[in-house]
Amino acid sequence: MGKVTGFLEIDRQDRKYAPASDRIRHYREFIIPLSEETTRDQAARCMNCGIPYCHNGCPVNNQIPDWNDLAYKGEWQEALRNLHSTNNFPEVTGRVCPAPCEESCTLNLESTPVTIKTIECAIVDRGWKEGWIKPEPAKQQTGKKVAVVGSGPSGLAAAQQLARAGHEVHVYEKHAKAGGLLRYGIPDFKMEKHYIDRRVAQMTAEGVTFHYNAHVGVTLPIEELTAQYDAVVLAGGAEKPRDLPIPGRDLSGVHFAMDFLPQQNRRVSHEPPNTNDPILASGKHVVVIGGGDTGSDCIGTSIRQGALSVTQIEIMPRPPEKENKLLVWPDWPLKLRTSSSQQEGAERDFAVNTIEFTGHGVVKKLRCVRVDPKFQPIAGTEFDLKADLVLLAMGFVSPVHEGMIDSLGVKKDARGNVAADTLQYKSSVEKVFACGDMRRGQSLVVWAIREGRQCAHSVDKFLMGKTLLPR
Ligand SMILES: Cc1cc2nc3c(=O)[nH]c(=O)nc-3n(C[C@H](O)[C@H](O)[C@H](O)COP(=O)(O)OP(=O)(O)OC[C@H]3O[C@@H](n4cnc5c(N)ncnc54)[C@H](O)[C@@H]3O)c2cc1C
Ligand code: SF4
Repeated sequence: MGKVTGFLEIDRQDRKYAPASDRIRHYREFIIPLSEETTRDQAARCMNCGIPYCHNGCPVNNQIPDWNDLAYKGEWQEALRNLHSTNNFPEVTGRVCPAPCEESCTLNLESTPVTIKTIECAIVDRGWKEGWIKPEPAKQQTGKKVAVVGSGPSGLAAAQQLARAGHEVHVYEKHAKAGGLLRYGIPDFKMEKHYIDRRVAQMTAEGVTFHYNAHVGVTLPIEELTAQYDAVVLAGGAEKPRDLPIPGRDLSGVHFAMDFLPQQNRRVSHEPPNTNDPILASGKHVVVIGGGDTGSDCIGTSIRQGALSVTQIEIMPRPPEKENKLLVWPDWPLKLRTSSSQQEGAERDFAVNTIEFTGHGVVKKLRCVRVDPKFQPIAGTEFDLKADLVLLAMGFVSPVHEGMIDSLGVKKDARGNVAADTLQYKSSVEKVFACGDMRRGQSLVVWAIREGRQCAHSVDKFLMGKTLLPR
């Protein structure tokens, strides 16, 4: 345990954001790290609970009390080793994870959880700065070959684990660069992309080969992979967006969030645009439909592009400001959360449905109506919202079926995801495995990392009859 009385003596203190008026002028990260001394103090607050609920709240089961203690003692390199034993990319989760661990922390009963995510990020950032993070190539090769389709966090985690187990791993990615939604979804101001490049370099040195612009099932038949490899991992994400098929949907100016966000990521990294139809919020009244992470990212990006106004509407009712801890802790609570992008100046409205988009060729307004808790329209509550750009951020229904999944004829679950359990991650097709959003549906980076790691464990066992890879 860190400091026995730490949680009594030291107040919770977390990283702060640069002021909104400054940060909206650029696309760089704006979280200000804590000093080393403050980080160690924060780690000292951990009580090393008999039952560490944080450990269970974390999808990769990070050994949080252990590395809190190591960080408190200043044993950073050992803390890093421990952190990497459960998580391949803590610099990613240390930036974009919603930190279910902190909701589960015993100190959250007092609304002052240990700043677990901040400590995680400090450990791994220090590791990179000190040069402690190096390629870890396998000592022996197994002679087995594995193809991983998709280079999002699940594909990357699976590939890294399998290469370290001695297999020859090839990652096939339809885009020009690796990272999946880390690269082409999450904006740079939440996570800069050099973190991905650094891991790709590490993985390349560990023997992973990346094949870019390889769209499996479209430009590269999946049958070539199943013929050539001893195992194939499907980690292609859940890319089919939920649509809003109402009158006016075909007006110009109504777009899926994922047609808008990746364009800006490409601009920031000076990649050539993949369209002749740039979508920009500059000088426009923007309405974002949908209240999750994707919606928030549309807000932050629109504001940086110079939108005149940004309004976010959500069909769900406004959640309570605070949860009833004794009813929900240590589970993830439903409560009003305000993202850094929402703080930058978006109007938010809840329990609102959109009935129609109107305009002459180009969208000008949304016709909306308030809804009751069963999402039924309340008569007489119709109103209009001015809009020159509408961004649909209502989530994703499933993986894209056309192409790889259809040609493979793999079995799907009731929601259209590739069917596979979380013990073996085996699909219905011999030697084909699935993990991440492609298997579980739209989720979180930390779940993708967990699934990639667990899937690698299962693939290694399938290939070798036994495995030392952790689950
Ligand atoms: C805008 C946005 C913001 C988000 N913000 C957060 C956040 O802040 N925190 C968080 O935890 N989660 C966030 N998420 C969710 C998170 O990004 C995903 O859950 C996670 O990236 C899923 O990882 P994955 O590896 O399963 O799939 P993905 O990241 O979707 O990666 C799939 C990869 O497979 C490739 N691919 C697909 N099909 C093929 C094919 N046939 N051939 C070759 N390549 C293929 C794709 O190009 C892609 O690179 C966000 C999601 C979005 C859309
Ligand atoms: S629940 Fe909180 S206080 Fe307890 S071990 Fe985990 S981080 Fe430490």
